Amino acid sequence: MSGETDGRSILIIEDDPSNRRIIAKTLSPFYRVVMASDGSKGVLRAKKHRPSLILLDINLPDQSGFDVLKTLKKNEDTRDIPVLCLTAATTEKEEEKSLSLGAVDFIGKPIRPKIVLARIAIHIEIASQRKSLEKLTQQDPLTGVNNRRSFDKALNDETRRARRSHEPLSLIMVDVDHFKKFNDNYGHQKGDEALRLVATALAKEASRAGDLCARYGGEEFTILLPRTTIEAVQFIAENCRNAIASLAIPHAHSESAECVTASLGCATWQPSGEADAPVPNLVGLADKALYAAKEKGRNQIYPALHEA
Ligand code: GH3
Ligand code: MG
Ligand code: MG
Ligand code: MG
Repeated sequence: MSGETDGRSILIIEDDPSNRRIIAKTLSPFYRVVMASDGSKGVLRAKKHRPSLILLDINLPDQSGFDVLKTLKKNEDTRDIPVLCLTAATTEKEEEKSLSLGAVDFIGKPIRPKIVLARIAIHIEIASQRKSLEKLTQQDPLTGVNNRRSFDKALNDETRRARRSHEPLSLIMVDVDHFKKFNDNYGHQKGDEALRLVATALAKEASRAGDLCARYGGEEFTILLPRTTIEAVQFIAENCRNAIASLAIPHAHSESAECVTASLGCATWQPSGEADAPVPNLVGLADKALYAAKEKGRNQIYPALHEA
């Protein structure tokens, strides 16, 4: 193990000051250490610092470590952080309970610093491998933006969130113009390179928290924009169109410009607030708008057809 923290941090939730001191002393050469002396402070610090791992004492003054564990696992921001439980009472029942609540491991007291350190290293490695794998399953291999599967999940999640919050949800479909001719004339490798540049430009425009840019398939991309109104989506779509044209990738055989361009269709859902109001097919609506943009001559955006 190197003597650097690599940005990795450990949150110790433990009420016993001498235990806290021993653990902190053991970990601090390798990790940034954050401490909390009870359960509620522990949960707050977990949300704030998003540590790489949490060491959680089961016997705490304000609530049991099991309740802290339940809270951490229910919260979207903390549920993926590995939790290692610590307790003096190493009964089978306690061990089983903490594992069934989602702890990754269980260490009995008295603390043996080297064992704690070794187990932490193992669980941090597992968590980091899982994160890389998860990222790979969400990524389009050619362009690096989100893949279709990731988009489908986000659309589903954001639709439910919009229904709950009554905030608008917008979507843009993007289709590169005359791309078959680009491939025919410049070759597929140049085509791939152009798609990468287009994807990167789009991802830059969709960079607010919650925005998601994905490759829908082939030379088509989609941008999901939570909390975005029917007026705002038009503005963002125009910025995307402009960003693609500004790449100035030569396309001598395009009928709409001398460079690679795209057509974009917008759709917006403003939830009415009624619990059983139907959810519009945003992809279908954005697709219709996209075809209207193509019809009108390409290299342009078409606004949402109506407030669904
Ligand atoms: P339009 O303006 O009507 O959209 O015309 P288009 O030529 O872009 O549309 P069409 O659907 O006829 O062709 C899409 C082209 O996109 C054909 C296909 O070879 C190309 N394409 C799709 N995926 C990839 C890819 O991964 N790499 C490359 N290089 N080309 C791709
Ligand atoms: Mg305790
Ligand atoms: Mg297409
Ligand atoms: Mg096309």
